[in-house]
Amino acid sequence: MFGKILVANRGEIACRVIRTARRLGVRTVAVYSDADRHARHVAMADEAVHIGPAPARESYLVAEKLIEAARTTGAEAIHPGYGFLSENAAFAEACAAAGIVFIGPPPAAIRAMGSKSEAKKLMEAARVPLVPGYHGDDQSPALLAREAERIGYPVLIKASAGGGGKGMRVVETPAKFAESLAGAQREAKAAFADDHVLVEKYLTRPRHIEVQVFADTHGTCLYLFERDCSIQRRHQKVIEEAPAPGMTAERRKAMGEAAVSAARAIGYVGAGTVEFIADPSGAFYFMEMNTRLQVEHPVTEMITGQDLVEWQLRVAAGERMPLTQEELAIKGHAFEVRLYAEDPSRNFLPSVGRLVHLALPRDRLHVRVDTGVRSGDSVTPYYDPMIAKIIVHDQDRAAALRRLRQALRETEVVGVRTNTALLARIAEHPAFAAGEVDTGFIERHRAEVIPRAEAADERALALATLARLLEWRQEAQARAAQSPDPASPWHRVDGWRLNGAGHDDIRWKSGEREVIVTARYQPADALDTDTVDCRLELDGTQMDASAVREGTDGSFRATLGTTVMLARVIASTASDGGRDYVVFAGGAPGGQTLRLVDQRDVSAAEAAGVHGGGLTAPMPGKIIDVKVRDGETVSRGQPVIVLEAMKMEHTLLAPADGTVKKTLYAAGDQVPEGADLVEFEPAEA
Ligand code: ADP
Ligand code: ADP
Ligand code: MG
Repeated sequence: MFGKILVANRGEIACRVIRTARRLGVRTVAVYSDADRHARHVAMADEAVHIGPAPARESYLVAEKLIEAARTTGAEAIHPGYGFLSENAAFAEACAAAGIVFIGPPPAAIRAMGSKSEAKKLMEAARVPLVPGYHGDDQSPALLAREAERIGYPVLIKASAGGGGKGMRVVETPAKFAESLAGAQREAKAAFADDHVLVEKYLTRPRHIEVQVFADTHGTCLYLFERDCSIQRRHQKVIEEAPAPGMTAERRKAMGEAAVSAARAIGYVGAGTVEFIADPSGAFYFMEMNTRLQVEHPVTEMITGQDLVEWQLRVAAGERMPLTQEELAIKGHAFEVRLYAEDPSRNFLPSVGRLVHLALPRDRLHVRVDTGVRSGDSVTPYYDPMIAKIIVHDQDRAAALRRLRQALRETEVVGVRTNTALLARIAEHPAFAAGEVDTGFIERHRAEVIPRAEAADERALALATLARLLEWRQEAQARAAQSPDPASPWHRVDGWRLNGAGHDDIRWKSGEREVIVTARYQPADALDTDTVDCRLELDGTQMDASAVREGTDGSFRATLGTTVMLARVIASTASDGGRDYVVFAGGAPGGQTLRLVDQRDVSAAEAAGVHGGGLTAPMPGKIIDVKVRDGETVSRGQPVIVLEAMKMEHTLLAPADGTVKKTLYAAGDQVPEGADLVEFEPAEA
C-alpha cells in the first residue's frame, strides 16, 4: 500500500477519498485553489498545496501543477476523483512519466472510451449490444440526416466527446434535424473543443442502468452489480439506487457479463462503469463507459459492503482484488440523492451563495452523508454546485425509501436555493415508490414534483412569527443590558409587556402575497427571552401559539393550537438586503421562506384604545412598587407598576400618553393573573 497519496480534486469526492486513505493508514495531500483555501477537504488532509486561482482551468485542471505538488510532497500516487482530470489520458501519462501512480485505468483504456463514437466501434467488435445508430467518421450534415432517416425518428444527436449531458439534442422530426445538429455541434465545440457527433435512436421511456466493474493487474475483472440512475434532469442524474427495481437474476448476469466483456475489450484496470440504456421490454444497449469512480458509487458500496476507494488503492498498488465474483452478494437496497444548489422551478439554474445554515442528516447505521462543505462555506460559481450526497441503506427498497424520506426531512439548507423539496417529492411519489422509474420521470410528473414558488402555509407563517417574537425578546434584552438600567431588561420593548391587550403586527411577504400576523400576548406570557405565549391572528383565523427556545440554533418547541412540534427558523439577510426567515418543521422538506416586510408595527395607543385602557397583570405575582399617583398624567412607555413574578421583576409601562385615573393595588398586594391594576385613560389623539 502507498505511504502517501495526493488527491487531485476538491469537494465531497476529495473528502471521501481522504476518509478511506486515513482508515488504511495512508497519508493524504490535498490541493486547493484560491476559492478553497478554507475548504473542508483541505482541513481533512494531512497536508495541502495551493495550486492557483479559483477557475478550474487555472488550478484543478492544470496537470503540471498537480504533478509538481505530488513531487514536492513526496506523494507516490494521485487519485483524480471524478470530473476534472479523471478521464484525461494525457494526465495519466504525465503521472507515469513523473514516476507517480495514477489511481485509475491505463491511458489507453481512457482513450478508448474517451470518444463515444470510438467506444461504440470497439463495443460492436466485442459484441456488446448497441443502440441502433450511426457512429462513423463522416460528419457531413447531409449524411447525418440520411442516417437519422434510416434509424427512424426520434433520434438523439450526441457529442462524441460529451459528458455531463452536454452537446445532446433530441430531434423529433426531420425538419428539425439541421438546426439541432448545428446546436449540438456548437455546444460540443464550446464544451469539449471537438464537434464530432454521433446519432442514435432515441428511446422513449428508457431506463439508465449501469454496471460497476473492477479489474486488477492480475487478469481478474468482475462486476459489482448494477445501479439504476433513471431519475434525471436535463440528462443528468439526480437519484440513484441499487439494485435496479425489477431486475431479474438472469438479466443482472447478462448485463454484468456484457460490462465485463466491455472492460476486457480495452484492457481495463481499476474502477469503471459501463452505462446501458434499457427499454421497457428489458433489452439493454451499451451507451458509454466512464473510466473512473462514479459520483453514485456509494450505493454499490452500501449493498456490497465494500469500500470501492479501498479497492482502487489496492489495485493501483498492484494487489489482487479483495473478493471473487462468487463472494460478492447484494445485501438490501440503497438510494443516493444529489443535493444540488439549484432552483428546480427555474429550469435547475445553479444557485450560488453562502450556506448560512446547513444541517444534514447524521451519519448513522442506515444513513451516510458525503459532503465537502460545512455550515458557513460558500457555493461558488467556479465548481459543480453539488452540496452533498445523502445515501441510505436498508433491508429492502421500501425500508430504504422510508429512510430516505426521513433523511430528507432532516436536511436544511439556508443561503442558496436547493433541490431538497424536489428530492423529497420524488421520494414521496407513489410512482417512485412503485419502482416505475425511467428517464422521463421528472418531466412526466413535473406538476407534482417541481416545487412552485407558492405562498407559505398558515403554519409556516405562525412559526416564522413566533421566531420573530423570540428574536425581539433577545434583541430587547441585549439592548437593555447595555442601557443605564439593566435591571429592567424589558423597558425598551413595550408591545408585549403591556398586558393582555398588548399586540404586535408582523408583516410577511410570501410568494406574491402579503400577510399581516397579529400577535396578542397572553396574560400568562412569561417575560423572558426564551419563551413566547400569545394568540395569533392570521387570515381571519386565530390560534393559541407558544414557543420555547431549544438551544441556540434557531430551534424551538412550538405549540399551535393543540399541535406540538419542534421547529427551526433560520433568519438571514438576502442578497437584496432583505430579511428572509426559512421555516423548517416536519412535513415540508426544503423549508418555506418568508420575507419580513417591516420591522415592527406596534400601535400601542390603538391597543389601549381598543381595549378600554386597563393595565392588567400578565401573570400572578406581587406588586412591589407603584410608580404613579392617582390622577397622574403619564407618557407612553413610562413605568407604572413593578410586579414580581416567577422570580423576576416586570415593569409595566404606560401603553400610551394618558392619565392614570386610579391605582387599584398597593405595594405588597398579591394579584391574580389578568387583574386590572390601574384605570387608565389614553389622551385624545
Ligand atoms: P453523458 O456523457 O452526458 O453522461 P450519456 O451518453 O451517458 O452521456 O447519456 C446521458 C443520458 O442521456 C442518459 O443517462 C440517458 O438519460 C440519456 N440518453 C442517452 N442516450 C439515449 C438514447 N439513445 N435514448 C434515450 N435517452 C438517452
Ligand atoms: P456521473 O454523474 O454519472 O458520475 P458525469 O459525466 O455526468 O457522470 O459527471 C461526472 C461528475 O463530475 C459530474 O456530476 C460533476 O459533478 C463532476 N464534474 C464534471 N466536470 C466537472 C468540472 N469541470 N468541475 C467540477 N466537477 C465536475
Ligand atoms: Mg453518461
